[in-house]
Amino acid sequence: MSNEFTVDAALLRPFAPPPRLLMGPGPITVDPRVLRAMSAQLVGQYDPAMTQCMNDTMALYRAVFKTNNRWTLLVDGTSRAGIEAVLVSLVEPGDKILVPIFGRFGHLLCEIAERAGAEVHRIERPWGEVFTTEEIEQAIRQVQPKVLAIVQGDTSTTLLQPLEHLGAICARYGVLFYSDATASIGGNPFETDAWQLDAVSVGLQKCLGGPSGSAPLTLSEKAVERIRQRRHVEAGIRTAQHQVGSGRRIASNYFDLGMIMDYWGEERLNHHTEATTMLYGARECARILLEEGVDQSIERHRLHGRAMAESLAAMNLQLFGDQRYKMHNVVGVYIPDGIAGEAVRSSMLNDFGIEIGTSFGPLHGKIWRIGTMGYNARKDAVLQTLAALEAVLRRAGHAMSANAGVDRALAVYAETADIR
Ligand SMILES: *Cc1c(COP(=O)(O)O)cnc(C)c1O
Repeated sequence: MSNEFTVDAALLRPFAPPPRLLMGPGPITVDPRVLRAMSAQLVGQYDPAMTQCMNDTMALYRAVFKTNNRWTLLVDGTSRAGIEAVLVSLVEPGDKILVPIFGRFGHLLCEIAERAGAEVHRIERPWGEVFTTEEIEQAIRQVQPKVLAIVQGDTSTTLLQPLEHLGAICARYGVLFYSDATASIGGNPFETDAWQLDAVSVGLQKCLGGPSGSAPLTLSEKAVERIRQRRHVEAGIRTAQHQVGSGRRIASNYFDLGMIMDYWGEERLNHHTEATTMLYGARECARILLEEGVDQSIERHRLHGRAMAESLAAMNLQLFGDQRYKMHNVVGVYIPDGIAGEAVRSSMLNDFGIEIGTSFGPLHGKIWRIGTMGYNARKDAVLQTLAALEAVLRRAGHAMSANAGVDRALAVYAETADIR
């Protein structure tokens, strides 16, 4: 017998991740309660306990999204699976879609919409700025799109696009309103129904404190109607009773939201095998958020984000972007002149076990991004990060007064002692 396929003995040891504090733009350190929930044993796909868990998860996410939308469910995959499911299901080839871009994820929406065959119309803002409502309304008037797709919080720039007035405008022009709120939900105000959104998709790995791999999303009745027109039931499970839509079949099987709704709905029509472990994780993320209270969680993110940003400024660092529109849960900070940004990040990681973020696109090599989100939107995590960053920066020759960052953060916490 040949030993050709034996592996090195080292590979047979289990993977032991080093202890880390993940203070970048995501993923972040997972809440231990979520890890515990995800270690539970599987139940069968149609076990009543499983379908109950799915229904409960739908109800929990309605509260997370602040919506009464019946169709609030999970797509199995990372956040972009949710984006792709929404776009491929809502737009047919040739449909016009308007995408205002103010960072990397706006470009991702365009890329995905283009692959779905949409006629994509872009408007752009320099990284570090957001759009006014009037700019978006004017573009809607000009383009007359079927769908407006826009990111709420774009971690690439750390800025938050105001969305609250766009829903009424979209309704007036007969446009479906979709937002990717992956990075912002749970840490910044978000109101699906009050803001009249037709589709929203998110992920777990930002303010929800989970791992990536599940994409909760919600659909309005208008969005569902559009999708139902394209309903398709696979041969092999289709019966004479099934009615299919007259519209063009959705181009993706895995991301066909019509089929995914049929699976999450009463009929439980077979589609994929639900990623049960991710379901447990997603359910626990929502449970933890709602146990704290969505508004309390947003306040907590506001507090720790403010403590981090003000303290960085006190360390003689310059913050990136229009601070009026900063996301609560992540801050961009310029790498000071003469400081090697990647050397600082690697000392943070290797000497202190703390990860902070780099940047891409036009900001590559210019800013670091530091997150305070989910499980890590905590006083001790903020103080440890500031103390470590100060030590690393002072060794690298950055001028600042001793303890400036930690002192500033402690002052913020002393002022707001009533919020944890
Ligand atoms: C972080 C982030 C994502 C992540 O997408 P994945 O597929 O989970 O990597 C998506 N959208 C936005 C706006 C984000 O900030």
